[in-house]
Amino acid sequence: MNEKGNLSINSENFLPIIKKWLYTDKDIFVRELVSNACDAVTKLQKLVLMGQAEVAENDKFEIRVVLNQDLQTLQIIDNGIGMTADEIKKYINQIAFSGATDFLAKFQEKAEQENEIIGHFGLGFYSAFMVADQVEIDTLSYQTGAEGAKWICQGGIDYEMDGGTRETRGTTITLHLGEDGKEFLEESTLYAALQKYCSFMPVPIFVEIIKEPTEEEKAAAKKESNTLHVSAEEAQTLTKEDALEKLEAKNAEESQEPKPLNDTTPLWQKQPKDCTDEEYKAFYHKVFFDMNDPLFWIHLNMDYPFRLKGILFFPKLVEHMDVVAGEIKLYSNQVYIADNIKEVVPEFLLLLKGVLDCPDMPLNVSRSALQNDGYVEKMNTYITKKVADKLTQLFKNERTTYESFWDDIGIFIKYGCMREEKFYDKVKDALLLKTTDNAYETLGEYLEKNKEKHENKLFFVSDENLQAQYIRLFKEQGLEAVILSTSIDKPFVSFLEYKNSGVKLQRIDADITDTLQKKEDTEKSEAKKQADEFTNTRMETLFRSLLHNDSLKVTVEALKAVNISAMLLLSESSRRMMEMMEA
Ligand code: ADP
Ligand code: MG
Repeated sequence: MNEKGNLSINSENFLPIIKKWLYTDKDIFVRELVSNACDAVTKLQKLVLMGQAEVAENDKFEIRVVLNQDLQTLQIIDNGIGMTADEIKKYINQIAFSGATDFLAKFQEKAEQENEIIGHFGLGFYSAFMVADQVEIDTLSYQTGAEGAKWICQGGIDYEMDGGTRETRGTTITLHLGEDGKEFLEESTLYAALQKYCSFMPVPIFVEIIKEPTEEEKAAAKKESNTLHVSAEEAQTLTKEDALEKLEAKNAEESQEPKPLNDTTPLWQKQPKDCTDEEYKAFYHKVFFDMNDPLFWIHLNMDYPFRLKGILFFPKLVEHMDVVAGEIKLYSNQVYIADNIKEVVPEFLLLLKGVLDCPDMPLNVSRSALQNDGYVEKMNTYITKKVADKLTQLFKNERTTYESFWDDIGIFIKYGCMREEKFYDKVKDALLLKTTDNAYETLGEYLEKNKEKHENKLFFVSDENLQAQYIRLFKEQGLEAVILSTSIDKPFVSFLEYKNSGVKLQRIDADITDTLQKKEDTEKSEAKKQADEFTNTRMETLFRSLLHNDSLKVTVEALKAVNISAMLLLSESSRRMMEMMEA
């Protein structure tokens, strides 16, 4: 059987398009081919479960990725379901059946705008041509009596088919890496791509690098296998028999069963009740390369009405930084898609670290398709609720712990409140304010506590160093201010005011004279009062001429028991106006 034909596709030659399109995400072919291999295994496993296929008891499902640096080939070998020649024709030749058609249709329509997002998602088998000059499929279907089939294509629209060479069930995809794929001959490049996309795929993946060793390498390897490393102490007492035995043990250990590259049962797939704190922490360290422990986490586990699993971690802030760089990794059925896709994940969650597995999400997607997709909307609502629930529970049941987290999680919560109405509504009563005495109070608590001294006013500090004098003044006068000093607090101050009508937020160096305790009039003599009048007028004249502003009002007031000779205040509204102009 030798058959030639051409691929059913409208476009004359779509491969240049694929190459150009995915130029920035070239490594995506690794994900596409290895996930196809996973799919092939999973399909067979399902058939076995349903009693429609049989495999030997000791049959281990696995995927092998073999890089041959001498032949410049990369093979992805699975022992999954395999394909018959007819299936190749149906699933590979008629690209019309695969997601690639949609992809190409989109490309021709509105290439440029959709660019960013679609690049993250697959277009399947044909992405192999991003890196290969020639691609071969050598496959044997699981069905009893099936004949092997082989397919060869050199890009372009022509292919060739023949009998296959596999004697065992499964598929071998061979890529002859071309100019565009040379970098994947590099062991480290290949590993990086495999680790990025395949670390949690559900079938064990083993990597082999084949390379004819140089004479020197051969000699070194031989020497190593005859060398036993022992300490000087040990060497004193070691007999020849002992040494030989140890040497054998060492060589045996080195040729032990290889370990798969991936973790086939990632933590997020387990039931929350089956996971320990230690496991969550270890997972966090490994996936996010963060040596710190996370503060706490939320394990999402939803099956109905849509499937969503994942773990969201609240990280510790990097010291002395008030910006947070989160990282939300998106997966579909344990296949990595991309980081921080804001079309899928509620934007404020991007300040957290976590993994989300959304198996129902369409993989051949464009930005506009996602935006119109009810799935994304539902998922956002669900996650937002889960996060808010966790926070309010902590606030209610473990207030002290919650307070101890506030410096780290406050920025996230404030941002979330401003971005998502729904989120604010749920957590508004758990919003804390840190006072200059290092206490944590809600707005309600603060107002209640201080209502005798000043009603519906919240005083805040925006810079503890610059406003140190004022903080001291406040303390001397028995007043309380809260610290709102991170970059997110500027918009947050206005936001709080907007959400709590009637409450005024005032910076500690703004309109505070009403609130401060003055020297009482009875303490003053008539002569002193006249002197004050005089000072007032003098001061006003002086300031008016200095600032060239004749409508300026200046008052001089004597404060009670305060060790400050003079201070300048700028009204809250004037300052905010100035800040707005600057911004
Ligand atoms: P998708 O995976 O989205 O269906 P692909 O372009 O990746 O699209 O693959 C097209 C089809 O080719 C698959 O649906 C499957 O039927 C078949 N196929 C690809 N790779 C394999 C494989 N390793 N084993 C068996 N079938 C495969
Ligand atoms: Mg696929």
